[in-house]
Parts: sequence; structure tokens; C-alpha cells
Amino acid sequence: MSISIIGNWKSNGSLDLNKVWVKDFLNSINSSAIQDTAVCPPFIYLEQMIDLTSDIDLSIGSQDIDSSNGARTGSISVDACKDIGCTISIIGHSERRALFHESNLEIRDKLIAAHANNMQVILCIGETKEHHLSGTTNDFLQNQITESLANLELSDRFMIAYEPVWAIGTGDTPQSSEINAIHKFIKDIVQSSSKNNFTPNVIYGGSVSSKNAEVLFNEEHIDGALIGGASLNGKEFAQIANIYKDRGI
Ligand code: PEP
Repeated sequence: MSISIIGNWKSNGSLDLNKVWVKDFLNSINSSAIQDTAVCPPFIYLEQMIDLTSDIDLSIGSQDIDSSNGARTGSISVDACKDIGCTISIIGHSERRALFHESNLEIRDKLIAAHANNMQVILCIGETKEHHLSGTTNDFLQNQITESLANLELSDRFMIAYEPVWAIGTGDTPQSSEINAIHKFIKDIVQSSSKNNFTPNVIYGGSVSSKNAEVLFNEEHIDGALIGGASLNGKEFAQIANIYKDRGI
């Protein structure tokens, strides 16, 4: 999967704002960088964004998907997403885990459903401040990974977003070298726990902006970024994608 720069709009956007976003993005993105990008608006705007970007290589993804369809009031299935042309989904974002109590096992079911339907998936994992301060980050991540992935057969339609919960929306990020070491750890754990010993791309999320992007993208194991706040501005999001395309490695 070549997509590396992914915007998560969370519960933001409007019919008018989305049009401005696409205009700003197109005015700032280098054409060679577009194919690396995806943006995930709220479900209700997926179709509008797919229409607005139909002649450019920006992928449009969902922020979540349900693991099944049928009698599941209020949920959106993989089939429904694919039906309107959405081919990529974030799964297991920390806000879904904290606010909507999603467990690793539910996230595993979503992953299986997505894979069965050839949907690209970004699985979010990341430790809380408490685990960070107590030095238990690796144990915590290992548990998230093994509960959601053990013995699954993975493919290049799968990637991980490492998002320390304490870095999301705070401006407080780990050093790039620390992130790099954690990404290497994540790759090793996924490799040893997946059925087919698959090594995924691992992107970083947590207060990424055009100011810190270059330092992050020059690390060997940082394969891109999941971007919240800074993705709400089409120009800023495009600048981060341009920096990724021009990185030194
Ligand atoms: C996120 O919520 O996925 C995220 C990375 O947010 P932000 O970039 O605002 O920290």
C-alpha cells in the first residue's frame, strides 16, 4: 500500500468547508505527492468528498467501520463503505477505544471484515500517559497488537498507526528517535505474531504538523503520518505530504 499521509478529520467538516479544503489542497500539493495521500472525513461527507476528488489521486477513507451488517442500528458496514467507493478505513482510533469502549477483540473483528472485503486498513495503537510515564509502553503495545492480530494473515493492505494517546492534539510529541525505536519494535511484534510473518508499514500520529514533519520523516521506520488537527486545513495537509515526498530517505 503506497498511502502514507492520512488525514483524520474526526467530527469536523461541512458541505461548504469541504469544498474550500479541496481547493486549498489542490493549490498546494505537488502532483507527485498526491498518490501518497488519503483523507478520512465523517461518514456523512464521504460521498461528497469522493465526488469532489474524483479526478485526482487522493484516496477517501472512513474513520471506522463495523464488523458486520444487518440488525446493527446506527452502524456503517464495510459493504456500505465500499459501495460508495471508499476503499480505506481507520480502525481502533484511541477516541473510539476511550469514548466508545471498543476492545481489542472488537477491533480484531473489524480487521477481519475489512480484510475479507479487500479494504485497506490503518490499525491505531498507542499508550496512555500513565503507561508512558511508568515505562510500560512496549508491554502495552504488545498486548494491543497480539490481542487484535494474533494468527491473522496480513497483507500490504494493512498498516499500523502508532499514536501515543498523550501526544494527540497536545503538541507534546516523543523525540523522533524514540518513535523510530517504537516503530521498529511494533514491526517486529507484528512480524512474529501474524500468521504469515508480515512486516507492516508503521506511520506515526500525534501532533504532526508541517513544522515537525521533516524531522519525523527522516527516521528509517517512520513510514508516514496520521494527522488530526493539521489535516483540517487543506494547505497544511498538502505541505506535510510534500515534505514526506521530498524526505531524504
Ligand atoms: C489523531 O487523532 O489521529 C491525531 C493524530 O490527532 P492530532 O494530529 O491532532 O494530534
